[in-house]
Amino acid sequence: MTNTNIITTNNLCKNYGVGDNAVRALKNCNIEIHTGESVAVTGASGSGKSTFLTLVGGITTASNGGIVINGKNITSMSEKELAKFRLENIGFVFQAYNLIPEMTAYQNIILPLKLAHKKIDKKYLSDICNKLSISDRLSHLPSELSGGQQQRVSLARALSQESEILLADEPVSALDPVTAKEVMDDFKRINEEFNKTILLNIHHVELALEYASRIIAVKKGKIVYDGPSQEVTKEILDEVYRKEA
Ligand code: ADP
Ligand code: MG
Repeated sequence: MTNTNIITTNNLCKNYGVGDNAVRALKNCNIEIHTGESVAVTGASGSGKSTFLTLVGGITTASNGGIVINGKNITSMSEKELAKFRLENIGFVFQAYNLIPEMTAYQNIILPLKLAHKKIDKKYLSDICNKLSISDRLSHLPSELSGGQQQRVSLARALSQESEILLADEPVSALDPVTAKEVMDDFKRINEEFNKTILLNIHHVELALEYASRIIAVKKGKIVYDGPSQEVTKEILDEVYRKEA
C-alpha cells in the first residue's frame, strides 16, 4: 500500500474576529492524511471540528498556515481557482443534507457534474446508487424521502464527481441511532470499496471508534490525539471531553 499524502496541513490556524473579541478556533494544526484513509474528527461542541473541516475543504480561509491537497497549496489559490479545485477534488456532506428541495434526488446527485460541465457516467452513478440503496428513490423530491435516504442522496451527490476526497460535517447527527449506524456503514463501504479518502466530523465517540480507522481528537482548537482508533483509551476520551482545563 502506498502512503501518499492527500491532505497535509502545516501550522494551520483560524481566528474569528479581531482584538479582544478574537476566537482562536484552530491552533497550529499539523496533520497528514494518506490516500484511502478513513478519519474521524471528534471533540466536544465548539472544539473546532467544523472550522477544521471547512478550512480543509476550502470553504473558509486560514488565518495562518498552509493546506496542501493532492500536491496543490490551496491557501494560495484565488477564489476562482479554489472554487474550481473544490468542485473537482472534494465532495461534501453536511448534517442538514443541503439538498435542493425543488429538485428530484437524481437532479440533486448530478448537480455537481452539471456545474462542472462534466459528462454523466451512468454506470458509475448507478453503481453508487445501488450501493446506497437509493436506486428506486431517484425520481422523488427530498421531502418525499426519509432522513437516512436524504443523507444517502447527499452522499451520492458528493461522490458523483468521482473526487477522491469526501468531507462530512456531522453527517449522522440529525438521524436516529439505528439510521445513524446504517449511514456510517455506508461511509465505511464507500471508503473500502471505492477507496475514497474520508474525513468526517462526529461528536458521537462510539460511532467514530467503530467506523473510522483513525481518530483525530480536538479540544479548544488543538489536536490532543491523533492515532489509530483501536488505541484510543477511556483516559484519552475523558481528557478530550473534560470541560475544565
Ligand atoms: P465544532 O464544530 O467542534 O462545534 P466550530 O469549529 O464550529 O466547533 O467552532 C469552534 C469555535 O469557533 C467556537 O468557539 C465557535 O463559537 C467559534 N466560531 C465558529 N464559527 C464562527 C464564526 N463564524 N464567527 C465567530 N466564531 C465562530
Ligand atoms: Mg461543528
